[in-house]
Amino acid sequence: MSGIGERELKSALSKDLLGWYKVAKRDLPWRRSRDPYHIWISEIMLQQTRVETVIPYFLRFTEKFPTVTDLAAAPEEDVLKAWEGLGYYSRARNLQAAAREVVERYGGRVPDDKAAVSGLKGVGPYTSGAILSIAFNRPEPAVDGNVMRVLSRYFCIDEDIARPATRIGMEGLARELIPEGEAADFNQALMELGAMICTPKSPSCLACPVMTHCQGRLAGREEELPIKSKAKPPKPQYRLAALTMDAAGRVLVRQRPSQGLLARLWELPHVEIPAPEQWRSDEAAPALLAAALAAEGLAIRPERHIADAEHIFTHLHWYVRVWTAVIADDSPPPPGCRWIGPAEFELLAWPNLFRKLLSQHFSGALEAAAGVQAD
Ligand code: SF4
Repeated sequence: MSGIGERELKSALSKDLLGWYKVAKRDLPWRRSRDPYHIWISEIMLQQTRVETVIPYFLRFTEKFPTVTDLAAAPEEDVLKAWEGLGYYSRARNLQAAAREVVERYGGRVPDDKAAVSGLKGVGPYTSGAILSIAFNRPEPAVDGNVMRVLSRYFCIDEDIARPATRIGMEGLARELIPEGEAADFNQALMELGAMICTPKSPSCLACPVMTHCQGRLAGREEELPIKSKAKPPKPQYRLAALTMDAAGRVLVRQRPSQGLLARLWELPHVEIPAPEQWRSDEAAPALLAAALAAEGLAIRPERHIADAEHIFTHLHWYVRVWTAVIADDSPPPPGCRWIGPAEFELLAWPNLFRKLLSQHFSGALEAAAGVQAD
């Protein structure tokens, strides 16, 4: 470490960062409160999601479920509906399961000890550190990708941040950096620097409060750090979906199973087609779609390819081709399926991909874009 000892390097970071944060911090709704429930919700929502996206969700969610007890008592559909559009729906389900645990085991108060907080469903080391430090000012590190980027650059650390051992090392380092009695502000200062100044691409070093001693910048390596081995690209999956309408203009939809990806959300009935060439074929695709849904008890007759949509999950990339369809016999829809019109559409919770498709359908935009006449 050039020109300055390790101890001075650490204390300069803590002091400069904290001083900067106290004047430069953004006014965010969850920063107006030390309510651990609010901080917990904000931290769960902020995982994989940008601050600007989270703000309106956070405000609506805390208005609808103002306390842990309200969240614990709410029907799951209401919680999913309030989360609709934020993605990663297991976060919402885990949050509610953990809220129920807080009510049952801790009398509705978010616990302030590490073992209890870390034991809540959906609360990993980062979130427990964030809740304990921000809400209770406990000297616990809260290390996520942003913080690892800042620390890698400031200390010029070459270790791969995708490795669990690196994260553990960074947690130890971040813990040492917390100034006495300042855990809440210091951890937020590190996060804020990563979000606002020391950004993944083109960090704003000239505006950075810790630039004087930043070892990565002094070595000219701020753009190449942190080192991160690449994750595998999401696996492509080809799916055919049926937009089945009846004479009254209603659409047949189904609810996903209670476990697994997008559990309990609503969707158009759809099936995976392992061979992309069959998925693309205007001859093979309708027959495959009809046969696969018939095997699930749903007899439909696909008519016209009307739209394509895609969605990228962490491990999967869905390519969804939508066919309009009509019911092929008089039997009632199988369990889990129902007919809906525009009013019911608004009440149910959907993954983004199907919400967009159906809102376009009900507004006539889908048919207009495909150049067909809506019935
Ligand atoms: S000087 Fe640049 S690289 Fe170093 S912490 Fe600040 S923004 Fe990041």
